[in-house]
Amino acid sequence: MPIGILAIQGAFREHEMTLDRLHVKHFQIRQAKDLDQPMEGLILPGGESTTMVKLLTDLKLFEPLLSLITSGLPVFGTCAGLLLLAKQISGTDKLGFQTMSIRAKRNAYGRQLGSFACEGHFADLGIIPMVFIRAPYIDSIFGKTEILAIVNDHIVAARENQQLVTAFHPELTNDDSVHKYFISMCQKNKKS
Ligand code: GLN
Repeated sequence: MPIGILAIQGAFREHEMTLDRLHVKHFQIRQAKDLDQPMEGLILPGGESTTMVKLLTDLKLFEPLLSLITSGLPVFGTCAGLLLLAKQISGTDKLGFQTMSIRAKRNAYGRQLGSFACEGHFADLGIIPMVFIRAPYIDSIFGKTEILAIVNDHIVAARENQQLVTAFHPELTNDDSVHKYFISMCQKNKKS
């Protein structure tokens, strides 16, 4: 079950550590040739989404990753990773892959509340810890997107087919249940 983790910027190490705890194989995606190996899922970590888009383009990773995502490779975007997948971001036309039917609001909690931790209900997983760092939230959903978590009246996790996003960072907590949820998406996709 190799999972590719985009490792050009941001919080990719924490995802590696989480997958290690779950005994799931993973590798880093830093350049186009890293995509030559088989991959059953893709993680887009938190970081700085505009920097990531620039690096993805400069490193010639943008187009190959876009075609993997549109061909149905399961993908999990956390925070900046959510912004990379959003079809729309309020107030800007600087977008990433634009594959998921959500409109996101960047740095949505303002300066004061930019970073905080709380607990929230996540679909079938129950109450889990959530860490937000200069996080976006999801303004609105369309297409086939389903809401998985709402905190303070804002959508903070969603799924559309094989695309999973969280505005928070499950990889910064010791609760691995969201990663388990993603791994089970990858396993089901492999079987089908
Ligand atoms: N604020 C960042 C951005 O706009 C996202 C923050 C994060 O990934 N922790 O890209």
